[in-house]
Amino acid sequence: MGARDFERQLLSGADGGTRHEADVLVIGGGPAGAWAAVSAAARGARVLLADKGFCGTSGATAPSGTGLWHVPAEGTAREEAKASRFAMGGQLAEHAWMDRVLEQTWTNVETLKEWGYPFPVDDQGALRCTSLQGPEYMRLMRKRVKAAGARILDHSPVLELLVDEHGTVCGATGVNRQTGESWVARAGAVVIATGGCAFLSRALGCNVLTGDGQLMAAEVGAALSGMEFSNAYGLGPAFSSVTKSLFYNWATFYTADGVAIEGAGSSKGRGVIAQTLQAQPVYACLDRADAQIRAWMRTAQPNFFVSFDRQGIDPFTQHFPVTLRLEGTVRGTGGLHLVDDSCATTVAGLYAAGDAATRELICGGFTGGGSHNAAWALSSGFWAGAGAADFGRDARARSQRAA
Ligand SMILES: Cc1cc2nc3c(=O)[nH]c(=O)nc-3n(C[C@H](O)[C@H](O)[C@H](O)COP(=O)(O)OP(=O)(O)OC[C@H]3O[C@@H](n4cnc5c(N)ncnc54)[C@H](O)[C@@H]3O)c2cc1C
Repeated sequence: MGARDFERQLLSGADGGTRHEADVLVIGGGPAGAWAAVSAAARGARVLLADKGFCGTSGATAPSGTGLWHVPAEGTAREEAKASRFAMGGQLAEHAWMDRVLEQTWTNVETLKEWGYPFPVDDQGALRCTSLQGPEYMRLMRKRVKAAGARILDHSPVLELLVDEHGTVCGATGVNRQTGESWVARAGAVVIATGGCAFLSRALGCNVLTGDGQLMAAEVGAALSGMEFSNAYGLGPAFSSVTKSLFYNWATFYTADGVAIEGAGSSKGRGVIAQTLQAQPVYACLDRADAQIRAWMRTAQPNFFVSFDRQGIDPFTQHFPVTLRLEGTVRGTGGLHLVDDSCATTVAGLYAAGDAATRELICGGFTGGGSHNAAWALSSGFWAGAGAADFGRDARARSQRAA
C-alpha cells in the first residue's frame, strides 16, 4: 500500500477499522519489543506495541526463559567471554558491539533488580543474574511497558508496513484476531521485534515465530544479513519442546545399546549427533555434571526439568532419547541488517531488535543461543526504542511544520 492509499484508509476508515497514532510503533512483545517500548516511552515518545499473541506469554522467551550473557566488568571476565564466542563465530563478530551489549546488559539487569525481578540467591547470598525465567521476566516486562505509558494491542498481528512518498516507514496495518477488525497505525518510526523464524521447529514458544517481521521489512526494501548462518539446530529430548542446549555440555551421548558415541560431546559434537541420528536413535545422559552443577542447573533453568519430572526420568542417571530441531533465525544469527548503533535498518524510519535483527555483530557465524540472544534482545531492544523515539519525534515535528 502506498502513502496515498494509507492516507485514504486513515482518513476514510473505509473498512471500518480502528486507527491509531503513535510516535513509535513496536511490532512484537517479546523481550526485545518490551525493552524497546520502555526505552522509547522513557524518551517521551507515544508508544504503541502490537503483538500477534499476548505480550507477556508469546514468543520464545516467555515460556522457556533464557541463560543471559551477564558478565562483570572487573578483571578479565569480559575479555574471556568475548574471545570464546569470537573464535567460535569464525572471528566475524565485532568487539565494539560485544562490549556495548555486555555493558547494556549489565545496566538493564540493574534495572530489573530495581523493578523487583526475583533473581535467585547463591550460597554466599549473592544474586545470580545469569538467567531469566521466562514467565516471571515477561510478566514483569508487560507491567513495565504499561507503567511506562505504552499502549498494548494483544492478539493483533501486523500484516504490512506502510511507507510515505519518500520511502520512509510511517506505520503499519494489522488485524485484531479476536474481533476480526482491521486496524491502521500511523507512526513516526517502527521497531521490528517480531523474533526469528522457527515455527516448524516445534520448539517451545516458536509457534508464533513465522518470520513476518523480516518479510514485511524486506517488502519495503530492508536488507538482511547473516542469513547463511541461520541453519542452527537446537538439541533437546525427543519427547519435549525444550531445546536448551547448554546443559548438554555435561552430557555423554550413547547408542541404544549403551555405547558412548565418540566425539558427540565435543565442541563439534552437534555434527556427530546429526550424522548418527541419520542411522539410529541417539541417547543422552547428563552424567558428567557433579552434585554442585546439578544443583545449579535446577536453580538456573527449572523448566529444563519439567518434561523429565513429568516422565519420571532422572536425566543425570538415565539415558533419554534426544533430537535436533531446526531453529532457523531463533538459534541462528541472521536477520535484518543494522546500519548504526541505534539499530536502524537500511530503510528510514525502520529499526530492528532481538531475533528479528542480525546477531552476527556479537556472534559472528555461530549460534546466538545459550546467553547471547537474551543479552542482545534486551540491549538491541533498548537501543532501537531510543533510536525510533528520536526519529519519531523529528518526524512529528516535520509534519507539524508542514501542516
Ligand atoms: C526453547 C528455547 C530456549 C532458549 N534458550 C535461550 C537461552 O538460554 N539463552 C539465550 O540467549 N537465548 C535462548 N533462546 C533464544 C531466545 O529465546 C530468543 O533469542 C529471544 O526470545 C528473542 O527475543 P525477541 O523479543 O526477539 O523474540 P521473541 O521472544 O520470540 O518474541 C517475538 C514476539 O513477536 C510477536 N510477533 C511475531 N510476529 C508478529 C506480527 N506479525 N505482529 C505482531 N507480533 C508479532 C510474537 O508473538 C512474539 O511475542 C531460546 C529459544 C528457545 C526456543
